[in-house]
Amino acid sequence: LELHLVPIPMDDDTAPGLLLVLQDVSAIRRLERMRSEFVANVSHELKTPVAAVKGFAETLLAGAVNDPETARSFLKIIQEESDRLNRLIGDILELSKIESRRSPLQFSPIDLRSFLERQLEFLGTEAAKKEISLELDAPEELFIEADEDRLGQITLNLLQNGISYTPEGGRVRVKAIIVESEDGGDFEEHVRIMVSDTGIGIPKKDLPRIFERFYRVDKARSRSSGGTGLGLSIVKHLVELHHGTIRVESTVGVGSTFVIELPLIQDY
Ligand code: ADP
Repeated sequence: LELHLVPIPMDDDTAPGLLLVLQDVSAIRRLERMRSEFVANVSHELKTPVAAVKGFAETLLAGAVNDPETARSFLKIIQEESDRLNRLIGDILELSKIESRRSPLQFSPIDLRSFLERQLEFLGTEAAKKEISLELDAPEELFIEADEDRLGQITLNLLQNGISYTPEGGRVRVKAIIVESEDGGDFEEHVRIMVSDTGIGIPKKDLPRIFERFYRVDKARSRSSGGTGLGLSIVKHLVELHHGTIRVESTVGVGSTFVIELPLIQDY
């Protein structure tokens, strides 16, 4: 609580008044704290790849450039760290665009099955490298009203995570079904999309924090798979912009399932 004393000017001869204002600022403070934490995190995340690029460039200039093999491996690191920096900047811009609601969603009917088919096709090479099988289980003629680009970001992110966090020879599956839910006597149809994998799983204690920005169960593993730690927070935002929900079920060593529910038709 913050206390403010505000003098009330009087235009006649009566004694001047004083107004006592008690304002609950906890929500404002919480928002401020979250914002400055985010800025601190962003700076830290950006500094890491920049430091690597600088360090390896300096070592090259100091003489390592004369040994072709060392030079090549250092240049490769510089290239990878620059890519990482690019992805980070892209994700941060994306998040800020979503949060400031600068680009409203463009809803259109989407044939979910062929939409998912195209995504699995796109991910085929990535999955094949790890001998991971990709499976689709969705009915024909399932149309959903969504923003096609954003829906693509949602499912692609979840599928890519599935591939990243699943060891060689595993399986990543996307399944879509229609579910009915009762809302005050009215039945509403939703689409439930489940992305499951036979991967490393997520420890129970980390599950509640998995959708937070920059939260990673294992920083080193996420780094080596090229992750920014922002994917799931972007996914959650985009699902909410579609008036949907997302949750996750996971068992360490067995696998994870991300479950999204989206309204079949958007209420304008
Ligand atoms: P990242 O870029 O690190 O993958 P995300 O926001 O997409 O960031 O995910 C946050 C963290 O959640 C990951 O670092 C990882 O620890 C965990 N995670 C996400 N998806 C999966 C999955 N399918 N299996 C196991 N862990 C996962």
